[in-house]
Amino acid sequence: MQDYNDRFKNLAEEAPFEQSPVMPTMLEGSTELKFRCHRNVKCWNACCSNIDITLTPYDILRLKNRLGLSSGEFLQKYTVPYEIDKDGTPGVKLRAVEGGTACQFMVPEGCSVYEDRPTACRYYPVALLSVRRSDEFTDRLSFAMVKEDTCFGHQEPDTQTIDEYRAGQGATEYDEKGRGWRQLILKKKSAGPAIGKPPAISNQLFFMASYDLDRFRAFVISDSFNQTYKIPVEEMAELVADDEKLLHFGDRFLRHVLFNEKSLEEHEGVYEARRERLKAKAEQIKAEFEANRDKLEDEKYCAPPGQPGDCGCGDKE
Ligand code: SF4
Ligand code: SF4
Repeated sequence: MQDYNDRFKNLAEEAPFEQSPVMPTMLEGSTELKFRCHRNVKCWNACCSNIDITLTPYDILRLKNRLGLSSGEFLQKYTVPYEIDKDGTPGVKLRAVEGGTACQFMVPEGCSVYEDRPTACRYYPVALLSVRRSDEFTDRLSFAMVKEDTCFGHQEPDTQTIDEYRAGQGATEYDEKGRGWRQLILKKKSAGPAIGKPPAISNQLFFMASYDLDRFRAFVISDSFNQTYKIPVEEMAELVADDEKLLHFGDRFLRHVLFNEKSLEEHEGVYEARRERLKAKAEQIKAEFEANRDKLEDEKYCAPPGQPGDCGCGDKE
């Protein structure tokens, strides 16, 4: 199974899709889907033997809790990092078995984490497109079909609508719970590439609040966080106890720090203190740049006598 997100990069430009298993038509949820996957199909487990599956934050939450691991342990053992876009926005994919391409959760009977399998596995052979028109404030879901020669489920006689298929696979619930994060990604994409590389800290915060939930929890209860943000005691208690609430709080936090949406309340004076810190930092960078430029100009025009670049002015003597 290839990554359904990657398949939709530049969907419009990919036509006529000569090599692609993705059908070049955007479909609605009411579209009929002729497909069935079951244990007796002759390609059983073929899709799980060659994986490229992007994980959403909610996928990780479900899997790490099922396996009784911390988010850090899960990320280390079961994922590989990749960059979602040119700004280096971090993403994670399922890690295959050592030296192979099969999913670590694949067993002869099928999927060993079936009830908590990732969104991409629930959708296959449908691909999810989360799109937002410029005159709309929220995303809407569109779909496309993925047809691979190795998948014989398309030859089964069963039919249902895409929406019925999604509901039967539990994908509807995953879509609901991942909605805030999907919108964050859409917003990042619609903002276009950053001018220059975004500060490393932005991507680190994005990674932590999206994927490394247990580390994000430790951050949220830290003194430094609480000296910055005003979180009511009852809400803080919920965030500590409830992974899903913490995940949604992470979306709010990221909108605040990445897009300055003021989705969190800060303590008085924090904004001003931050502005002063940034101003001081900007002054420092400017001073360093000017000192460096003077040094470079000296080196350029006044290399030591007899050395390459010696202009003969004797300044270095
Ligand atoms: S998580 Fe399950 S369904 Fe998804 S690729 Fe792995 S074994 Fe297959
Ligand atoms: S029918 Fe398709 S989805 Fe089902 S096991 Fe075969 S390749 Fe995988």
